[in-house]
Amino acid sequence: MSKHYDVIAIGGGSGGLAATKQAAKHGARCAVIEAGRLGGACVNVGCVPKKVMWYAASLGHALEDAKDYGFSLSHGGLNWAKLKQGRDAYVQRLNQIHLDSLDTAGVDFIPGHARFIDQHTVEINGVAYQADHIIIASGGRPLTPQLPGGEFGITSDGFFELETLPQKVAIVGGGYIAVEIAGVLNALGSQVDMLLRGDQLLSSFDALIRDTLRQQMEQDGVGIHPCYNLETVTLGRNDKLVLVPHERPELSGYDCLIWAIGRIPNSDRLNVEAIDLICDASGAILVDEFQNTNIDNIYAIGDVTGRATLTPVAIAAGRKLADRLFGGQSDSRLDYHNIPSVVFAHPPIGTVGLTEAQAREQFGSQVKIYQTRFTGMYHALTRHKTKTAMKLVCVGAEENIVGCHMVGHGCDEMLQGFAVAIKMGATKADFDNTVAIHPTSAEEWVTLK
Ligand code: FAD
Ligand code: NDP
Repeated sequence: MSKHYDVIAIGGGSGGLAATKQAAKHGARCAVIEAGRLGGACVNVGCVPKKVMWYAASLGHALEDAKDYGFSLSHGGLNWAKLKQGRDAYVQRLNQIHLDSLDTAGVDFIPGHARFIDQHTVEINGVAYQADHIIIASGGRPLTPQLPGGEFGITSDGFFELETLPQKVAIVGGGYIAVEIAGVLNALGSQVDMLLRGDQLLSSFDALIRDTLRQQMEQDGVGIHPCYNLETVTLGRNDKLVLVPHERPELSGYDCLIWAIGRIPNSDRLNVEAIDLICDASGAILVDEFQNTNIDNIYAIGDVTGRATLTPVAIAAGRKLADRLFGGQSDSRLDYHNIPSVVFAHPPIGTVGLTEAQAREQFGSQVKIYQTRFTGMYHALTRHKTKTAMKLVCVGAEENIVGCHMVGHGCDEMLQGFAVAIKMGATKADFDNTVAIHPTSAEEWVTLK
């Protein structure tokens, strides 16, 4: 006889863990099925190991800056193996913490790969499990291109397996992952080239922010190659990679090639045909504002829905869904407006709301922009300088703030509070009526003219 639950989550990543633990708090009998390592992309090949690498890279910059502040420093360079060992051990501790937390919450953990049998039944390793409700939280995986020699490249998953710091790296793509890995490797000593299919890094970001970051990256020695569309990758002399693009000069001598060209939803290995689940052309599972799929008792959350593919979004959507299904909160759902996000570039970017271009398209001449660009005081004594840029996008006579964009030292930690204010409906006057904190970069937000 198959085991029966109130709810099963397929995927033990950010969304599946959050949803089932919240459901268990409401008294539901829950199970999480995980094919890989508990914690999903965020813990194992995403936010967590990435942030460790970002800290390492930031320390690399700080060590140089410290000399300009008067410290006599000599260090033996980066011990990559030690960094990787420490990072992997930290991730393993988190895997165990997640396992323990399921036990504490009373959620069953079922290791293995889940496939649908029917709308109430999934099969794992030949055993059937049934549930009244099934939450698909199976995440996504990196895209790789179909081109000759594509297999010579690795993805962000492979980046976290590198045993040594590569000397010369090509990164294809200009999104979150490409920019973050490029910043890390550049700061740690690799020679980095970024190959963009179009003109822009971070093409969906506000122009002030993406242009400022690009200038900074170029100043720091990252090669940025716009409109560079690869056709073939081959092995050249000394096993170094040669990149052959369409109607552009070849680039060669790389010991590492990283594909960072987006991610695809993990909806194709669930046997969704058995339940006629509807996905869009990219494979994202279609859901309404309550995370309902087209099947009554089946829901989808997180990256597999292709919407705002961020850890806190998967967590929040999962908890709200559990509150609705088991907590008696019939209207509980995640509001997808004004979701803040940070790109852990060097320096970091923080952004929430509409870009200037989006606001102008939506509100035309009602849009008013306040912006500034400056070198923060941290750099008063340093030879290596970074710019800080900030933009506030306001609309209408009340100057309601609909967008807030920043790049510079400390912007990663600066954004969260401003995101609260904007979510609460802050106006420019609210910002102006707040007394500044001096001397900080953040004080510019309340003195913008
Ligand atoms: P996941 O965390 O991917 O979990 C899905 C789980 O489902 C996986 O563990 C998978 O093994 C499992 N699974 C899949 N199919 C099956 C099956 N059939 N049966 C059983 N199990 C299955 N977000 C941020 O907010 N901040 C960041 O700084 C950040 N950095 C990132 C850096 C990188 C390099 C990457 C790749 C992502 C980053 N993200 C970041 C995005 C974040 O990791 C994801 O948005 C988040 O992990 C999504 O959670 P999820 O639960 O939807 O999916
Ligand atoms: P993104 O969507 O951010 O970027 C994809 C990049 O790849 C874009 O520059 C895009 O170009 C380019 N691209 C797409 N297809 C091709 C192709 N065929 N050839 C060459 N270039 C191509 O995806 P990522 O993989 O970087 O990240 C996935 C998601 O994970 C992010 O959107 C984000 O939600 C999440 N994430 C969040 C992080 C954070 O919060 N700090 C960090 C890392 C990931 P174009 O601009 O021209 O479309």
